[in-house]
Amino acid sequence: MIEGFREPVLSIQNLQKSYGINQVLKGIDLEVYKGEIIGYIGANGAGKSTTVKILLGLEDGYTGEVEIFGKQVSTNDIDYKRKIGYVPETAEVYDNLTAREYLTFIGELYGLDYEIVDNKAEKLMDIFGLSNVYDSRIATYSKGMRQKVLIISSLLHNPELLFFDEPINGLDANSVMVFKELLAQLAAQGKTIFYSSHIMDVVEKISNRIVLLNKGQIVADGSFEELKGKNMEGTLEQIFNQLTGFHEHKEIAEKFVSIVQGNE
Ligand code: ATP
Repeated sequence: MIEGFREPVLSIQNLQKSYGINQVLKGIDLEVYKGEIIGYIGANGAGKSTTVKILLGLEDGYTGEVEIFGKQVSTNDIDYKRKIGYVPETAEVYDNLTAREYLTFIGELYGLDYEIVDNKAEKLMDIFGLSNVYDSRIATYSKGMRQKVLIISSLLHNPELLFFDEPINGLDANSVMVFKELLAQLAAQGKTIFYSSHIMDVVEKISNRIVLLNKGQIVADGSFEELKGKNMEGTLEQIFNQLTGFHEHKEIAEKFVSIVQGNE
């Protein structure tokens, strides 16, 4: 299909955002299309979570145009939110609830019937090996188990667009394999995925397009192969270091150890 004739699922034009005198986003332009898995990467503090929060309508006070499914995010139309799933970097899960209570509550917020969502949640918990704790309080879960509940909660309503912020934090190797495959299959079904993470080898493998944010600006946008060709580097980690101008990891570690040892 010719790109010019496709409607973007998500469109950002000249997005700028400041916190006080700290300009965090300095003019972001980005169009994302159906079925894409975007790996959104950048150093700590680059502005990734700020971008995602603006897209979700959780943050205002910005300038520029931000549209999802052709609707301005600033209008706060709740219809578009029904088509979105989100796994935040750090989530407030209602610890005192059981997974059954929590997931059915979330499902009902999205307008699903209790029976339907309960059935679906129980099956998804079973796939993640958690059927035996479906009725246990989330407070008793390990980190990885909680993360699985969050992933399930983002997918219960079969959303069109998914935002994942470090979604595999705490997941074991087998679960990561399942999750990566899940992303590929969701994208093949036409879902669009916005995936923000620091785990470069995973981003490299799962994304069909990588967007690198540096100090509030997009400094690279393309498939891994394209970025590799342009930067003549082998891994995404090396491309990331090159584009963010970072080469001092050894010196920084040496200084750190030296201070720890009381030599400085
Ligand atoms: P990380 O990889 O560490 O999660 P990030 O790229 O997601 O980083 P953001 O969380 O978007 O970065 O933060 C970008 C900048 O905005 C940082 O300098 C941060 O201090 C600042 N910032 C974020 N939220 C706020 C806030 N509510 N008030 C003031 N400053 C904020």
